[in-house]
Amino acid sequence: MIFSPLPGTPTVTQGFGQNPEIYQQYGYLGHNGFDFGVPEGTKVFAPHDGLCTVKDDGANGYGKYVTIDAPTRRSFLAHCSQILVQNGQSISQGDPIALSGNTGSSTGAHLHWTFKIMKNGAVQNKTNGYDGAMDCSEVTRLWQQQSLHQHAQYTDAAKPYLSMTLTANQVIKNTTGA
Ligand SMILES: [Zn+2]
Repeated sequence: MIFSPLPGTPTVTQGFGQNPEIYQQYGYLGHNGFDFGVPEGTKVFAPHDGLCTVKDDGANGYGKYVTIDAPTRRSFLAHCSQILVQNGQSISQGDPIALSGNTGSSTGAHLHWTFKIMKNGAVQNKTNGYDGAMDCSEVTRLWQQQSLHQHAQYTDAAKPYLSMTLTANQVIKNTTGA
């Protein structure tokens, strides 16, 4: 089970699979993750346990970002203003890992989250049109503590692309084993 990386009621500004015309250039069928429209400096929490890799693409791509690797899953939290963990650091689900930002190829302050299923060190479903990235709304539940995370809100443009509506403490059926 994974958790949403943001507390409160983050607005999803771009859902999974949205805007195919923009993502063609990267070889994707559409947006390969979730975008949360949060102000720069918003604390980002680990959606799951894992080992951190810290990278900085500068003005390109994901900008400052952290990858969290676990045997069954991998997350990318991108466009951050600051990374709060060290390269190679082992972290637990819910640990603060970064501050959101507007670095890399980004047109406004937001957090981008890509989620992939892993098995035996390999990304699964790599030929799904998103290099294995999946709609993590399928396997996400929100923070159990109401003070940390309640329900998310979505822009009208993002709604049709979401397979669920997040509500407080909702547990999502996990169809992937992640
Ligand atoms: Zn994005």
